[in-house]
Amino acid sequence: MAFLGEVAPVPYWQRHPKKEIEALLGEFHESGWKILNPPRYYTVRCPCGDHQRSIHLTPSDPNYVKNAYRWLRRQDCMKGEAT
Ligand SMILES: [Zn+2]
Repeated sequence: MAFLGEVAPVPYWQRHPKKEIEALLGEFHESGWKILNPPRYYTVRCPCGDHQRSIHLTPSDPNYVKNAYRWLRRQDCMKGEAT
C-alpha cells in the first residue's frame, strides 16, 4: 500500500496544497506537535504546551519552510526528548 509523500496517512489537519508546507506540517506532527487548522494560518503547538507558532499559508520568504524546521529543532522540549 502506497501513500503519497512522507506525511502520515490521513492527516487530521487541513491539507495544504503546497507540498513543502504539507511536509512541514507532517514533520511537526511526527514530533508530537498539535496542528490547528487555519482560518488564516496554521498554528502548531508543542507537546509541553509552552511553545507554539503560526505557519503561514503563503509565506513570501523562500527560506520560510527551512527556517521553520530549524525553529522546531531549537525548541527546548524537542532537545530534551531527542532520541
Ligand atoms: Zn515545548
